[in-house]
Amino acid sequence: MTTDTTKTLCPYCGVGCGLEVSPPAQPGKAVNRDSQGTPIWKVQGDRTHPSSQGMVCVKGATVAESLSKDRLLYPMVRDSLDEPFRRASWEEALDRVASRIKTVLSTQGPEAVCMYGSGQLQTEDYYVAQKLLKGCLGTNNFDSNSRLCMSSAVAGYSQSFGSDGPPCCYEDLDVTDCAFIIGSNTAECHPIIFNRLRKHHKKNPKVKMIVVDPRKTTTAEAADLHLAIKPGTDIDLLNGIAHLLMRWGRIDTFFIDECTSNFPAYAEVIQHYPPEVVAKRCGISVKELETAAHYWADSERVLSMWSMGVNQSSEGTAKVRTIINLHLMTAQIGKPGSGPFSLTGQPNAMGGRETGGLSHILPGYRVVKNPQHRAELEEFWQLPAGQISPVPGLAAWDIITGLETGDVGMLWIAATNPAVSLPDLERSKAALMRSPFTVYQDAYYPTETAEFAHVLLPAAQWSEKTGTMTNSERVVTLCKAFRTPPGEAKADWKIFVEVARRLGFGDKFPYSTSAEVYDEYAQVTRDRVCDMSGISHARLAAQGPLQWPLPKEKESRLPAVKRLYTDGRFPSPDGRARFGAYHSRGLAEPPDPDYPYVLTTGRLYGHWHTQTRTGRIDKIKQMHPNPFIEIHPRDAANLDVQENDLVEVQSRRGTSRFPAKVTKAISPGTVFVPMHWGALWADKAEANALTHHISCPDSLQPELKACAVQLVPV
Ligand code: SF4
Repeated sequence: MTTDTTKTLCPYCGVGCGLEVSPPAQPGKAVNRDSQGTPIWKVQGDRTHPSSQGMVCVKGATVAESLSKDRLLYPMVRDSLDEPFRRASWEEALDRVASRIKTVLSTQGPEAVCMYGSGQLQTEDYYVAQKLLKGCLGTNNFDSNSRLCMSSAVAGYSQSFGSDGPPCCYEDLDVTDCAFIIGSNTAECHPIIFNRLRKHHKKNPKVKMIVVDPRKTTTAEAADLHLAIKPGTDIDLLNGIAHLLMRWGRIDTFFIDECTSNFPAYAEVIQHYPPEVVAKRCGISVKELETAAHYWADSERVLSMWSMGVNQSSEGTAKVRTIINLHLMTAQIGKPGSGPFSLTGQPNAMGGRETGGLSHILPGYRVVKNPQHRAELEEFWQLPAGQISPVPGLAAWDIITGLETGDVGMLWIAATNPAVSLPDLERSKAALMRSPFTVYQDAYYPTETAEFAHVLLPAAQWSEKTGTMTNSERVVTLCKAFRTPPGEAKADWKIFVEVARRLGFGDKFPYSTSAEVYDEYAQVTRDRVCDMSGISHARLAAQGPLQWPLPKEKESRLPAVKRLYTDGRFPSPDGRARFGAYHSRGLAEPPDPDYPYVLTTGRLYGHWHTQTRTGRIDKIKQMHPNPFIEIHPRDAANLDVQENDLVEVQSRRGTSRFPAKVTKAISPGTVFVPMHWGALWADKAEANALTHHISCPDSLQPELKACAVQLVPV
């Protein structure tokens, strides 16, 4: 490490690996360059980071290659979508944005103003946006792409425990007796977590790994037991395991009596899940089901991990709660090596949740519907009583329908690419096309979403602004700026502040640095589950990454702990965790004679989301050059499809085309398509042209993981 090396955090996934970044030119060494000869910053893992200890995957290692490519350098504006953009000054662009907000406020009211953000934003960006929209403007219409990613985990934790907040930490990966991975291709999507678990698993033959996934993923290949269940039967499986644990008397009645509620309703439900019934529904053998239940029963410490395969479901919250139920009935929570652990998708989706970055929540794990929570925020922000709306704002899909009906008068999108990532993409794009006024604030240009904007605002990205991010194990890392933003790009929080000042709220946003923003935000978390009142930029700079809860000494009633709920007390009104009693409802759109296959979507090891960065990195493009569709050999034979043949995939909403990858990794009747390719990167190969928007009624998270399709060889 040289003296000009900066310690920071990888800006991709929620594992949150520490990075060390050094300038391209080092004394006595050749300048570090990419394949086009452009000097690039040198990136390596930070051995001192507590979450990753020096490990990085290909995305973290190559991130610097994307920093200077295709950047949005200046504000640009246009009056209508059929005009070309013209360069504008910041003054003109920001005046346009503020003027439009004023007009919408006076003609349609605050509920017509919307912002759609992203887990790529830093905590300081998120917090300033919440204060502006939810506090000053009086609308809760701030939602983010976390709605597509983690909102079922948020709802599941909140309903079971009384608060959001993953209770586990990465150290649990090193000491668990049984890892139960469901709906997560951890090896590809959270590789450093998987490497750590795999090391423990390999070293300790008694440690078991169960993977539940309709695909034989890289993760499943490493498992002792792979349960290739039919899509949509997760709750059947989980209730089936619970049934056996109950039948065998392998439950913790003391914990259930002392620390939980609603067990009788749950016990009644799981009676209806005997092994023969469950095995048939899930498409596995009774023996496999019993083996999974034995692994649970015989393990002192069981660690469940899940990600999009559970969350992106029309019964996502029920799935999360049904996982948590297993931990509650066996007291597998709050102790080393055990607990329910959601693997967060994005680098700061956790920070987004902490700051209130979904339309039903408020900073400090508060919720919009709670009058006391609103009053606390109003007092803290020195706003009149009743200023914060008691009505949850529009969630991601509501914004689309709001554009269709004309109820949304202006949409401000920041750091995300919804013209690739939203479900039912043709309908989503048509709605974006109808938007009367869209501001798109991003680091890159072109992107698919820029096509739908009236104003483009160039944002400084990771490496060019200082702020914090929280990873999946609640560790907060300071990401210091080490480069100058290109052109006229500015930090997102600064852009929000400039608009706030134009709207007459300057006195509420007196910050001159992101450290000042953080200091204010940290105080609003005091005495909350996510208490980080003891964290500041200065402390992070001096001590390195810190895990919450970390209360300010002597000023909080909460202790700093590594794991949540170690004492069996939960932040619910009665201090107990609540069992959720759910029967399986299955897929929202099951296959039928017209659309006989189930399409499931997912990610690949190298690419990130919609390729805004990774599509501009040579090594990753070579690794994953094209989209594809995985088809089981039996289905391929029935369709007369050979390897690499082009297959048209049709759903009730649209069509896309992909070359076939014929593989036994996918179950017969199910096909898989990666979600990374938008219109910019491939022709008619968008996974989300096929998916539907039907969502979990509790989390409002769409079922991006499964829809019914027909396959037609081209
Ligand atoms: Fe970055 Fe995630 Fe890879 Fe770690 S595992 S280097 S956080 S993309």
